[in-house]
Amino acid sequence: MEIEQTVLVQCPYCAECFEVLVECSIAHQEYIEDCEVCCRPVTIVVDVAEDGSVSTWTRSEDV
Ligand SMILES: [Zn+2]
Repeated sequence: MEIEQTVLVQCPYCAECFEVLVECSIAHQEYIEDCEVCCRPVTIVVDVAEDGSVSTWTRSEDV
């Protein structure tokens, strides 16, 4: 199992996809990363299952 994994997430502002690096040894994490396309802060939520599969989704901050 990889310790770090690159996953594609979709920006909630501009709908463009960009890659983020996920630390797979942490089961649940949330962090903010600037969108590579529109540069707005995107909250990225990551869940790593016991079998190592990674789920990610995104949230916009300024609602
Ligand atoms: Zn964007």
